[in-house]
Amino acid sequence: MDTPRLHPDTIAAVRDRADIVDIVSEHVVLKKQGKDYTGLCPFHDDKSPSFSVSPGKQFYYCFSCGAGGNAFKFMMELGKRPFTEVVLDLAKRYQVPVQTLEPSKRQALQQQLTLREQLYEIVAVAARFYEHALLSPDGEAALAYLVGQRGLSPEIIQQFQLGYAPGGWQTLYGYLVDQKRFPVALVEQAGLIVPRTQGSGYYDRFRNRLMIPILDVRGRVIGFGGRSLSDEDKPKYLNSPDTELFDKGKTLFGLDKAREAISKTDGAVVVEGYLT
Ligand SMILES: [Zn+2]
Repeated sequence: MDTPRLHPDTIAAVRDRADIVDIVSEHVVLKKQGKDYTGLCPFHDDKSPSFSVSPGKQFYYCFSCGAGGNAFKFMMELGKRPFTEVVLDLAKRYQVPVQTLEPSKRQALQQQLTLREQLYEIVAVAARFYEHALLSPDGEAALAYLVGQRGLSPEIIQQFQLGYAPGGWQTLYGYLVDQKRFPVALVEQAGLIVPRTQGSGYYDRFRNRLMIPILDVRGRVIGFGGRSLSDEDKPKYLNSPDTELFDKGKTLFGLDKAREAISKTDGAVVVEGYLT
């Protein structure tokens, strides 16, 4: 039988969806101990529980025989099954749509991967630009709003990488395109600039706004929420459009910072908005 080549998106989606505690506990009786689970190791003749599973790290480890890995590895080792088969099996179980890769599409995908890497860089550089602007004279009103009206400490402002988009039409554009020499098309694809409807050229999507970076679970900036600082500037919140990196429907603000506490306490409180 021909083994299909799985699309990396499918593998990533299955990896995100599959829960190691769920999978291991089908084969091993697990007991909760602190934030982890322990049980008898299925990979060696275990007399006392030396097998530990961490839901936070999505990882298992045996202190006696050294077996360890993620959910894929567990199923591969336990069932002596190939990688693709395990992923397909989990895809079915977690209802992840399966995409396979045709040879002709591999090159396009390769380009897409480097595109994503370039976009990550552009968005990260933009985030630093906004952060810097918040602490410049331009950002004085925005900073006063955060500290004075919202009561945020400098530590929180730094931790959340809050920033300020200056009021000009081409401030970020000038920095990213003219100074840093990022290709215009990529800066547009990152959702940071918008083509003019009349004539040629681009303008900054976010102007005179408080900038709140939106991070993925791995802590990488993928987009922004921009809050207006004056009542005349509508809308009150302007978000990045959906891009190659940012999918509004699949992103939960703050998850990168909360995930450890969520797995520790087995609970989460989801609220609306960026600021309390
Ligand atoms: Zn073991």
